[in-house]
Amino acid sequence: MIQVTSLIGTMQSVGDEPRMPVVDPATAGEIGSVPTGSAEDVDRAVRIASEAFPAWSGASVHERAAVLHALADVIDANRDDLAGLESRDQGKPFSLARDLEIPRAAANLRFFADAIRHDDGDLFDLGSQGINYTLRRPRGVAGCISPWNLPLYLFTWKIAPALATGNTVVAKPSEVTPLSAHRFSELAASAGLPPGVLNVVHGRGETVGARIVEHPDIPTITFTGGTSTGEWIARTAGPMFKRTSLELGGKNAIIVCQDADLESAMPTIVRACFQNQGEICTCGSRLLVHRDRLKAFMARFLETVEALKVGDPLDEETDLGPLVSAGHRDKVEAAIARAVEEGGTIACGGTRPSVLPDRVRDGFFVEPTVIMGLDQSSDTNQEEIFGPVVTVQGFDTHGEAVTRANANGYGLACSIWTRDLDRAHRMAARVESGMTWVNAWMLRDLRTPFGGMKRSGVGREGGVEALRFFTEARSITIAHSGS
Ligand code: NDP
Repeated sequence: MIQVTSLIGTMQSVGDEPRMPVVDPATAGEIGSVPTGSAEDVDRAVRIASEAFPAWSGASVHERAAVLHALADVIDANRDDLAGLESRDQGKPFSLARDLEIPRAAANLRFFADAIRHDDGDLFDLGSQGINYTLRRPRGVAGCISPWNLPLYLFTWKIAPALATGNTVVAKPSEVTPLSAHRFSELAASAGLPPGVLNVVHGRGETVGARIVEHPDIPTITFTGGTSTGEWIARTAGPMFKRTSLELGGKNAIIVCQDADLESAMPTIVRACFQNQGEICTCGSRLLVHRDRLKAFMARFLETVEALKVGDPLDEETDLGPLVSAGHRDKVEAAIARAVEEGGTIACGGTRPSVLPDRVRDGFFVEPTVIMGLDQSSDTNQEEIFGPVVTVQGFDTHGEAVTRANANGYGLACSIWTRDLDRAHRMAARVESGMTWVNAWMLRDLRTPFGGMKRSGVGREGGVEALRFFTEARSITIAHSGS
């Protein structure tokens, strides 16, 4: 059993506080416990983070970069251990965590360590009048709140730029998947991270998360999670003039054009729908397929989806593990039932797998599910499901495809499949989406802006956007003497 502890200052434990269970979604068994955490824990963490701020923000970029590189190194050195924790905590295939997500957590730290060393400043030559330059200073204690779907990947995506730019951090991982952040906090001290610079408070969103948002001494909040939580954060942080980055839900379209190369596209399209059981904010959940290609597409698509292996996440052959919790599995099943009530036809999946290995027979599994026959205005095509469920609609013109892609309150990600370069540019420019991939999905470079529009959020993370978000620009103008 793993006893998760908060990391506040140098204290790895907050004592005999109330705890809640950590459940392995593959077996439904309890594998540990996490403190419920309190507002007082957050207050203590903020005090300690504030005390650590002058020294950390005063360190040179090279000193901070060295610490971030060391943190990345300990992630690499403990890759299998961290991947195992993520898999047991979240349900994702171990191989996905080991080969992609844990290495990406290390890459996040290295990227921002290097970014601060190569960042340049602004200087404006005012001619004979003088010069103007911009100082960018860390903003203080940053509040970093992350969700359960990509636990360490998104945790490091937030803390890395915050720490790199000289802020100190109070972070709250999701209470549903606390294990890898806990292990990371244990490792952080050995990497030379000074005490108090990173404080990890475990606990519920409505207590620990809410106190981070409401705390008067946290001027910067970066949040990734659901849109309704994001709305509350915006309402609360707005009047306090906090700077917020809100990375929220998605209902992403995958547009398959008349001229798409179905054969080469198919593996990526299927991954875009079902990677991590569809529990990725950028996963596609609305497939829009040109009617001329619909029949051929469906034959290939269903064949590929039906071949996916749902099962024990520790098995190297597994493509989809369980959903993250019994509650989330119930929500996904309710969404499938609602789709049927709305007149949808299940083309594959729709149920729990009938056969599972013994070890995981009580897990929270749902088959990858494809639904047809629903209008764009249906609830199923409007609301985020965040599971292995996609719908397919046909379209007649590419203009109609863009209109349908945009007929949704979210605007996070889109992928367009076409061999026509001109069409790709025209459609990509019209799609209301923070990120659009053409003939690709999740082709990510950490320099590029990441984030959504409409109900998918406010602000961008990644690259220079993150460096700007965590710093305050101060414009300084110096007149030349005698001018
Ligand atoms: P939630 O909004 O429920 O939770 C996200 C985080 O916020 C968790 O740590 C949660 O804590 C915490 N939280 C909950 N309530 C509050 C509150 N009142 N104040 C402050 N913090 C709070 O989202 P999920 O964890 O369910 O994550 C899934 C969602 O995240 C999906 O909608 C998905 O689309 C979105 N997402 C968006 C991404 C993006 O980049 N745009 C990327 C990944 C996911 P706890 O879990 O302990 O309740």
